[in-house]
Amino acid sequence: MIDKNIPKATLHEHLTATITPVRALKIAQRNKISVPDGLISPPDEDNPRGSFNYDLSDINNFFWAYDTICNLVINPIDYYEVLHDFLTYSANEGALIAEFQVSPLYYGVKDKHNIIDSPIDEEMYKDIFAAITSAIDDAQNQTGIVSSIVAVSLRSWGNRGVMKVLDFIEKHPNPLYRGFGFVENESFGNFADYEEGIYRALKEGYRFAPHAGEQCGPQSVWDALKYNPERIGHGIRSIEDPMLVKELIKRGITLEVCLSSNHALLPLYKDSWSSHPIRKLYDAGVKISLACDDAGMFGTSIGREYEIAKSILNFSDDDLLTFTKNAINASFIPENVKDNILKKAKL
Ligand SMILES: [Zn+2]
Repeated sequence: MIDKNIPKATLHEHLTATITPVRALKIAQRNKISVPDGLISPPDEDNPRGSFNYDLSDINNFFWAYDTICNLVINPIDYYEVLHDFLTYSANEGALIAEFQVSPLYYGVKDKHNIIDSPIDEEMYKDIFAAITSAIDDAQNQTGIVSSIVAVSLRSWGNRGVMKVLDFIEKHPNPLYRGFGFVENESFGNFADYEEGIYRALKEGYRFAPHAGEQCGPQSVWDALKYNPERIGHGIRSIEDPMLVKELIKRGITLEVCLSSNHALLPLYKDSWSSHPIRKLYDAGVKISLACDDAGMFGTSIGREYEIAKSILNFSDDDLLTFTKNAINASFIPENVKDNILKKAKL
């Protein structure tokens, strides 16, 4: 049972992938897109928000399902609904903060498979971003949940991609853009390949929160550390290098740990929950926070991630509160807002 009274916070969500099956069905119908047979089941007693059905034993099948489902989301109203659903649902489970990773260029191009080389439709971007902002504002007014955004580039876009993302958000500034990061398989590029872009992002005041130590081992986290990240997306494979664990503790870096995602996607941790390194990292003194990664795709929620930590991995309520405190302290929301939230939640 999810304990709604435990305050929660999530720092690692990919906006479009928070979509629930029931919302995906409604959007597909409205956008007149046919969904492959069997991919989405409507709600029933066991799954009140419906379910996505795909074979997780094949990573390519996951990527196919991910693309198919996320590509249903096209219009500003679609984005509004997907995000508003996630924020209000999370707030109802006790979440105080939710931070999102978005690829700003993604919202301005029609060809989602060739974003970096496509011309950008600035009006389309503005309309979609306005819808995202409205969802954040409405959810905050209705529930109190506070959000901010980590702008991301894809690793395979190289330094050109980072520069293009930074140019774009410079042209379309918004105070919600507070962090900078990278997505995509870690083997698709090294941080050194985009060093110029990373230094520019840091100089422009964006706070660095890249994915690392998920598909690739400790070296990917060491590579990230060169650029002073405040948080690491996943970072769990740091456990394979005791020196790295010490370094994370010394620097006070918070890991954004996504249990359901790791369990579903990483062969190392598929066999049993106890193989996941969260317990060892936490006991060693690494700052841990919990998140969903792709809440809709994995049929999870921030409440469920906390519940997995408690009932399957035996973390106490005090440990869960520590996760929340770590997340709030490491979030990129303004300091005064952060202080108020910590005080109100008595953390
Ligand atoms: Zn992620």
